[in-house]
Amino acid sequence: MASLEEIVQLAKKRGFVFPSSEIYDGCAGIYDYGPLGVELANNIKQQWWSSMVRKRQDIVGLDAGIVMHPSVWEASGHTTGFTDPVVVCKKTGKRYRADHLLEDAGVAADERMSQEEFCAIFEQHKEKIQVCDPDDLGTPTFQNLLVSAGIGEGEVYLRGETCQGIYVNFKQVLDSMHMKLPFGIAQIGKAFRNEISPRQFLFRTREFEQMEMQYFCHEDTSSEHFAAFLASRQEALVALGLRKENLRVTEHKNLVFYASAASDIEYHYPFGWKELEGVHDRGTYDLTQHALHAKERLTYFDQDRNEHIVPAVVETSIGVGRLFLALLADAYAVETLDDGTERTVLRFKPSIAPMQVAVLPLFRREGQQRIAHRIVEDLAKHVSAYYDDTGAVGKRYRRADEIGTPFAVTVDHETEENETVTVRDRDSMKQDRVAIEDLASYVNERIN
Ligand code: ATP
Repeated sequence: MASLEEIVQLAKKRGFVFPSSEIYDGCAGIYDYGPLGVELANNIKQQWWSSMVRKRQDIVGLDAGIVMHPSVWEASGHTTGFTDPVVVCKKTGKRYRADHLLEDAGVAADERMSQEEFCAIFEQHKEKIQVCDPDDLGTPTFQNLLVSAGIGEGEVYLRGETCQGIYVNFKQVLDSMHMKLPFGIAQIGKAFRNEISPRQFLFRTREFEQMEMQYFCHEDTSSEHFAAFLASRQEALVALGLRKENLRVTEHKNLVFYASAASDIEYHYPFGWKELEGVHDRGTYDLTQHALHAKERLTYFDQDRNEHIVPAVVETSIGVGRLFLALLADAYAVETLDDGTERTVLRFKPSIAPMQVAVLPLFRREGQQRIAHRIVEDLAKHVSAYYDDTGAVGKRYRRADEIGTPFAVTVDHETEENETVTVRDRDSMKQDRVAIEDLASYVNERIN
């Protein structure tokens, strides 16, 4: 597997991801998606939306605002409980996530512990910490992760997670869409967290996108739905191209008081096994909290049972950036070819590749260029295609490999005679000769 460094370099060089505001020395924990990155991210989101919403009759979509009434975050417990322990090195002034320092030292520090319990464990195991002299580390303090902003007259929060927008719209969706239990609401959108030490590239950022789905069901069926979503989400990740052996499930041992089950789907990143997606059985907590604070009835009328019930919630939650990084890491390969040269290739599944077809005139001849442009225009109706006539064709193949383009179409002298082109396969590097009129269906078939 490639190192994180190599992935970051390729991502920048080939227009996937740039550090934010780089001409002003950057902005910690924020990244910009470049021309190819935005294509890949859009493909990831489209596939999630298609499998979560379009292909299901029991899940509908939502796009709530990033800014919500500040009471939302009081009700959810975020204003008080959404904290991470931070510890400062007295010598260097560097700030660290205290729980991560313990984790690196092999001490299980649970985010669900009380602050007092956590500080006691930290004191007890401090000696094992390697990043600096343990005596220079003070006592952990707890930093709230909500990002605040001013809007109009008042102070608001930028949402720390997208799911709160789903809970507060539960009644509106239920009534307007006449939903029957069980049903889900799915949403893709930005979330913001004041992460103490944003690091590991797209893995931990201060601004990121989440794809979340909240499934409302009878409390006595939630464990069934939980198991089904845990399985289907792993299948979906494999279908997107992640290797099975790089995925595993870790069950949470200690649960927050209201949850009855929680598991992380972890990916084997270049820096170790880390949470990619969370699947949680959250019980009736969320709707109960908002009903209490908003003084609204957030219930479902069950006609069979002839009673109003508070549905339980099963949640699936994944960050677009974390998935993007996992896909890059999984796809990245450096190969030595038969002639001894090396090539870097991103082996994306063709359906998510940011660019699916490169169209290359063999020579910069007017006739070949004209045909190549015509092919791009035609293919672009079905797939993402681009034109490239800069440099020798071998170099252009390498560039196409490096951004994960599964097919390279070459227009050569034969094309001018018989309207056929060669199609080079990224992985096998073998070429097929295809008639231009069959090209769209050939490519479509190979992609799907
Ligand atoms: P972690 O323990 O790694 O901080 P978390 O348990 O706080 O993650 P959740 O609150 O469950 O994460 O968020 C759901 C999903 O959102 C995560 O599985 C992850 O994919 C994504 N996510 C959370 N925080 C970040 C972040 N700072 N940067 C990028 N993605 C994130």
